[in-house]
Amino acid sequence: MVDTGGTLCHYAASPAARPGCQITAAVRRGTVPLCASCDALRSTVGKGQPGTPIPVPAAASVLDWIGLARTRLADADAEVTAAVTRARKHGHSWAAIADRLGITRQAAQQRFGNAQAGARSERQAGARRG
Ligand SMILES: [Zn+2]
Repeated sequence: MVDTGGTLCHYAASPAARPGCQITAAVRRGTVPLCASCDALRSTVGKGQPGTPIPVPAAASVLDWIGLARTRLADADAEVTAAVTRARKHGHSWAAIADRLGITRQAAQQRFGNAQAGARSERQAGARRG
């Protein structure tokens, strides 16, 4: 799943649903990694699958996981900004973009309008330079 030193349990990202999850997977049921606690509770996920122990389970670092999640969040944010920029260049309205983002038109314009203004001023600076 995520490289945090050890393999994360399938339910590591669901603390509300699985408060007793031990985070670090100890066994695989098919392709689903589970910690010992979640393996004991398993219902539908992995049911009927033979278990494959994960050799020498290293402890997953929840602090490393925070860093990885933050990196992926930044990557996803950059992807959304790129998609919005492309959508604007393809003539889509702020209202249509806002609808897909689940925010108001004004919020979309405030959040992403600057990225477009930044791209414009970079182009203009480039045009002036050469
Ligand atoms: Zn678990």
